Amino acid sequence: MPDKKTQAANPGDSFATAFGFTKILSLSSLVLILATGLILSVVIANSARQTLLEKQEQFATLLAENLNHQIYRRFILPTLIGFGSIELSQEAQYDRLERTIESATRGLNIRNLRIYDLEGAVSFSTDRAEVGNTVLADGKVLGTIDNLGKTFDIDSEISQWWGIFLLDIEEDSVVLRTVYPLRMEDDLVGPERRKGPLIGVLELRQDISEDYKTVLRFQRVILAASLVSSLGLFLMLLAIIRKVDRSNAERIKERNRLERELHQSEKLASMGRMVAGIAHEIRNPLGIIRSSAELLLKKTGSKDDLQARMLKAIHDESKRLSQTVNDFLDYARPREGKRDPVDVGRLLEQALVFLEPECEKNNVVVEKEYEQEQGRIMVRGDKDLLYRAFYNILTNAMQAMAGPGTIHVRSEKNDGRLLVEFVDTGPGFDENSLDKLADPFFTTKDNGTGLGLTILKNIVESHGGSLGLDNAPEGGARVRISLPLA
Ligand code: ADP
Repeated sequence: MPDKKTQAANPGDSFATAFGFTKILSLSSLVLILATGLILSVVIANSARQTLLEKQEQFATLLAENLNHQIYRRFILPTLIGFGSIELSQEAQYDRLERTIESATRGLNIRNLRIYDLEGAVSFSTDRAEVGNTVLADGKVLGTIDNLGKTFDIDSEISQWWGIFLLDIEEDSVVLRTVYPLRMEDDLVGPERRKGPLIGVLELRQDISEDYKTVLRFQRVILAASLVSSLGLFLMLLAIIRKVDRSNAERIKERNRLERELHQSEKLASMGRMVAGIAHEIRNPLGIIRSSAELLLKKTGSKDDLQARMLKAIHDESKRLSQTVNDFLDYARPREGKRDPVDVGRLLEQALVFLEPECEKNNVVVEKEYEQEQGRIMVRGDKDLLYRAFYNILTNAMQAMAGPGTIHVRSEKNDGRLLVEFVDTGPGFDENSLDKLADPFFTTKDNGTGLGLTILKNIVESHGGSLGLDNAPEGGARVRISLPLA
């Protein structure tokens, strides 16, 4: 047979494993959400940066086109007419070009502007010292001379990834460099000036740090938003996990408790079966001892010698013991009840007649307030069991009063049910133990079994009824039985 403990532990273990798996799953999904959020924010921020650069390039192209036009119209044409040829080595020509460029670029963030001739030498520069320099022309400039068209690049020391952590960036940290071919214009009037032959290469450097700063700010906002939302999600998940964790722990605790209880009641049940077996074996010899003692007592008559006293003790003790054994057996092995019509009035009469000698001995008066006429209060059930129930209540009442007193027995029919009420004039139930009175083996008596009220409750409930135990307003214990009428 498999070990019960192992059997019981397994489902809990698998639940715990499954839950551990859920935990890992939620945490890994959190990492995934976090990573996705981060990647998304980087992608969005990069596309914003790209858009900014494209706008800057468009602007730079417009600027270069306009410069080309201004240089052609306000410098090349008038110089050719005035001087016959263009020679920037002449101070006057150079100054005219400088003025033209200055007026076209005023207010724009131009850091440096150069014009290269077709040999790659600097023929004009905003930094005059560079004029005549032949080494400044790099691959891009030479490529443009070779008709490869305009190019743009970003000159910056700020990393694309770590830039967002810079709180401020200095001027000229991000520079857009534009290399643009300068051409003659064929048609000055038309909306689209046709491009003529190449006359030089324009190189422009613009500071775009201010715009770049805006992009970095935007990048920071996106990153922070994605981190905050991921964190929120994580906290939510954490709260859910904790809650499930707690309820799981409670469930496991509760199940362990139930298992322990089950184990305990199994143990008790098998012990009960064993004791019931022994009690059953004791009952018959005990009956013989009791009846023999009774017989001998009768024979001794009214003698009060040692022998008679000993016989009386044997009789009393064997009577008490057989009551205990019977109580225990009634509780441990309740018999299957019958479903016959039972006259409650007659049953109460029978029980009271049986107890009459004892009542007389103790000066106990029974007040009857129920229909004694035959067949007036009928229920369906087991006569013997119901008799036992009434007997238990009445003997308890007499034991509680322990002397003279009154037992009031009353019945009432109401709504298809019969209420039988017993009120005695004893000390009443202990108010603090009311909910324990019907528990098995609860007793306040030295020689009580604590089974009388338990058996009573079982009998009443097996008849579809209910039992109420409390104290009457005028004092004394009140036992109420409610049974369905036949
Ligand atoms: P036992 O009579 O063996 O003690 P019961 O189950 O019949 O067992 O009763 C349980 C306890 O309920 C008694 O020990 C007693 O304290 C209390 N009790 C029962 N009937 C009365 C009553 N009529 N008045 C006061 N207390 C009572």
